Amino acid sequence: NEGLGSWPARRARKTPHRTALIHGETSLTYGELYERTTRLAHALRASGVRRGDRIAYLGPNHPSYLETLFAAGTLGAVFVPLNTRLAGPEIAYQLADSGAKALVYGAGFTALVAGLPGDETDVRTFVEIGTEYEALLARAGAEPIDQPVTADDTCIIMYTSGTTGRPKGAMLTHGNIIWNAVNVLVDQDVITDERALVSAPLFHTAGLNMLTLPVLLKGGTCVLVEAFVPEATFDLIERHRITFMFGVPTMFDQIARHPRWADADLSSLRMLSCGGSPVPTPLIATFQERGLTFLQGYGMTEAAPGTLFLDAEHAVSKAGSAGVPHFFSDVRVVRPDMTPVDVDEPGEVVVRGPHVMPGYWGLPEETAAVFADGWFRSGDAARIDEDGYVFIVDRIKDMIISGGENIYPAEIEDQLLAHPDIVECAVIGVPDDKWGEVPRAVVVPREGCALDADEVLASLAGRLAKYKIPKSVVIADELPRTASGKLLKARVRKRYGTNS
Ligand code: AMP
Ligand code: MG
Repeated sequence: NEGLGSWPARRARKTPHRTALIHGETSLTYGELYERTTRLAHALRASGVRRGDRIAYLGPNHPSYLETLFAAGTLGAVFVPLNTRLAGPEIAYQLADSGAKALVYGAGFTALVAGLPGDETDVRTFVEIGTEYEALLARAGAEPIDQPVTADDTCIIMYTSGTTGRPKGAMLTHGNIIWNAVNVLVDQDVITDERALVSAPLFHTAGLNMLTLPVLLKGGTCVLVEAFVPEATFDLIERHRITFMFGVPTMFDQIARHPRWADADLSSLRMLSCGGSPVPTPLIATFQERGLTFLQGYGMTEAAPGTLFLDAEHAVSKAGSAGVPHFFSDVRVVRPDMTPVDVDEPGEVVVRGPHVMPGYWGLPEETAAVFADGWFRSGDAARIDEDGYVFIVDRIKDMIISGGENIYPAEIEDQLLAHPDIVECAVIGVPDDKWGEVPRAVVVPREGCALDADEVLASLAGRLAKYKIPKSVVIADELPRTASGKLLKARVRKRYGTNS
């Protein structure tokens, strides 16, 4: 078995007594993880799961997530993690689309699972985590399973968070995930004594592939947390002497704004890594001023996901940049005809490498549409500086064109976030008779602050070109986001984008 499914066995051979996973008051050594994974694989095989079949998982961060992933890999089956925030019909769609035969689910999802339309999915085996799951493992055998699995076999189908349209299942091979983990281990100083805090959801690519799997490959310990709660995060860091953490920008933002930030003991933290959506420069500065190593990564589900990476050495001098390509990744910024742009000329980020998916599950046309000459087209606009550092400017489709000038909302949002009383913001284009489109700012004030629209606009004067300064400001209570904290620009546009 060349794949992920062999990791617990290989780790158990090297470091059987080291702690692999901690969850609440329980912990599992690598030896125990191997035994439980093997038992689960036997149980799933007995229920009819074969190589290539799909096994879905619905539940918060928990050891059984990794056991199911590794058990699937042991059998050469495909793991399909489901987003726990989805509604019943959305879950039913992903189960039907992936053709999952088995579903392992958390106790909190019993009602949702009971309400699934049985005739629309192929799921015949349901396992509830808890008593049922433990009984299944206890009954199953623990003899090693020797199923051939190659690096090109599909390991995971991960549905993209879908800020537009219907979610598509990105097929990630064992090779894709292993090369991504190699990229993380080459470019970041992950150590065997790592104690990682996994509070980002494992059903999204970053929490799994930028944190958990590289740490387990290295033999470190992952502390699994079911939900990110800023207050509890400080306790967990202190209690487990956490060394490594990944978060999307909103998570780190909540940490830095928390009253405990001032005097919590953060001395164990060696490495913080942030990505998944644009990382505001003021946020980077806040962590650096505290003396913490704050790394930024850029990637996407389809690239398993690590693509660009800004190391600690350049975090200050290249602040605002998402960095340079990971070791085994090739990245270009190109014009619509795929020719590389000049220095500072905006273009689209395209990526190629052994970590890039072969395609979307069951969608050959959509797959063909996102690849050009073997490069995956990210849909993100960026520019490259004279040293080769890539600055993500925005999603291409979020760009505003005003009087013929291209405006990238992220640039204005960065400036708005520097305002002390603004906690969140989104800049969208609204129709304008004279300019075609003009920017509008939707801002969320800090709790208890009365924001004044004119004052907000005045604070931008002189810092941005006149045509980039929003023509109107809307004050909002909150902004729509996906589970991974990505701003749903389409929804912001729908709600705040008309002139009435
Ligand atoms: P997903 O496919 O859900 O993993 O989201 C990938 C998208 O998130 C990318 O195409 C970017 O638009 C955005 N993204 C991820 N990391 C960054 C980053 N460091 N800076 C800016 N945008 C990012
Ligand atoms: Mg995407």
